[in-house]
Amino acid sequence: MDTRLGRRAFLTGTAAAAVVAFDPAGLGWVTSADASPGGITVPGLDGELVVDPESRAEAADDYGHIVHRNPVAVLRPGSVRDIVTMVRFANTHELQVAMRGQGHSTFGQAQVAGGVVIDSRTLATIHRVDADRAVVDAGVQWLDLIQATLAQGLTPPVATDYLGLSVGGTLSVGGIGGATSHFGLQVDNVLALEVVTGDGRLLRCSPTERRELFRTVLGGLGQFAIIVRATVRLVPAETNARVFNLFYPDLASMTAAQRTALADRRFSYLEGQLIPAEGGGWQYMLEGVAYYTPPSTPDDAALLAGLDPASSQISEVPYFDWLNRIYALVEQLKPLRLPGPWINVFLPDAATDVYVTDVLADLAPADAGGVVLLYPVAREEITRPLVMLPDSEVVFLLAILRTVSPPNDADVQRLLGVNRALYDEARAVGGTHYPVGAIPLTPADWRAHYGPRYAEVLLQKRRFDPNHVLTPGQGIFRNP
Ligand SMILES: Cc1cc2nc3c(=O)[nH]c(=O)nc-3n(C[C@H](O)[C@H](O)[C@H](O)COP(=O)(O)OP(=O)(O)OC[C@H]3O[C@@H](n4cnc5c(N)ncnc54)[C@H](O)[C@@H]3O)c2cc1C
Repeated sequence: MDTRLGRRAFLTGTAAAAVVAFDPAGLGWVTSADASPGGITVPGLDGELVVDPESRAEAADDYGHIVHRNPVAVLRPGSVRDIVTMVRFANTHELQVAMRGQGHSTFGQAQVAGGVVIDSRTLATIHRVDADRAVVDAGVQWLDLIQATLAQGLTPPVATDYLGLSVGGTLSVGGIGGATSHFGLQVDNVLALEVVTGDGRLLRCSPTERRELFRTVLGGLGQFAIIVRATVRLVPAETNARVFNLFYPDLASMTAAQRTALADRRFSYLEGQLIPAEGGGWQYMLEGVAYYTPPSTPDDAALLAGLDPASSQISEVPYFDWLNRIYALVEQLKPLRLPGPWINVFLPDAATDVYVTDVLADLAPADAGGVVLLYPVAREEITRPLVMLPDSEVVFLLAILRTVSPPNDADVQRLLGVNRALYDEARAVGGTHYPVGAIPLTPADWRAHYGPRYAEVLLQKRRFDPNHVLTPGQGIFRNP
């Protein structure tokens, strides 16, 4: 029996039961209270491996509150070495493992039935902020990184709309936001990574060192390696944001204005929302933002030229407040634990207007509850091969970020069915899905998702995670 973990856990006064061994016969973990000679020793860890019901229940839940898969233990790593140790241990004992960032997936993507969830929140150090880059642990939240970089007049070029997400979590999926129209996804702005591969190797990779691993891990949905540290690009930050909310009478005029604005990249940030209107129907709002630092000021006339909104609202906010605009709202919503059957699809430009018109015709405001986003990005800015996008110069993201209130399983199941139908329709017009939502998918769907890249996915899986230890909750190779 390895008593080091037990002693350390007790010394730190944790109330959680510390694991000291794995019992292969009972497929369970043995705590210091009931350790038997039959258990397999867990090598010494710098952090904690816990099996208490609260920790496991947290790891069996996420922002969607739809899927619940119980892990047998949760690792709170005290070091990168702990992650290496646990991944190697999992390989030896036929266990599966997933890193969990902030658990803001909506459909069990970071969960592992009967395996070990690694909680990245205990590895959250910002190691350095230099003039053009920052080196951070995967568990760092973007909010904390942005606060640290703004203190030096710098910013990551692309922020997600909500900043309470982990660096590792968004780099595993892509990381899209209003600045993607200029800088691509967050994964396009990474200079180097340190990862633990599925077979337990701690490796550095970058565009010049182990290039294939680098390309595969970014947007790789945790399938090949666990990201433990990232070097992310920084650019000089402006101080102010001028926000243009431009309203249109119909979808076609909004998307036409978005295409015009995207074409010359006139806004620093470009998104759009479909908002249920009082009394029925929808409001169509282009959201464009110009970042600037006084004494220079945005040229409103140039920004609005050719966009012809029916009405507009222009407001001013500090740059940081703009980036952090929805944080408080999300924090307020979290305790309500509302199920979130989200769907996010990427649509080819040519199909967008018809597809979205059909979606809106059938979308009751109650089923939209939350936010519906629609905005274009230029395909050429997005370079990582495993972020699958439609074959179209301009691609629209449609994100129906709905909540079910009051919570009830009948509506959740119904909306999962709707999501599946919308996904099929998106695929039929050349669309793909952005894999952060709640769409019931099979391994065959994933094969279709990767299309011609699927052979490469299989090859890299064999190379870096041959025992399929990592991140089963995505359901890419087997149903989870
Ligand atoms: C309110 C809200 C707003 C959002 N807004 C945006 C947005 O504007 N743009 C956008 O792109 N996304 C957005 N998302 C989606 C979000 O980016 C993804 O769900 C992201 O994966 C969540 O990060 P997380 O830290 O919570 O990851 P988790 O949900 O914990 O994990 C997500 C997946 O990544 C894996 N993973 C986590 N960390 C690592 C790691 N270090 N190494 C390898 N794999 C890892 C997990 O195993 C899991 O499969 C939003 C989500 C919420 C809830």
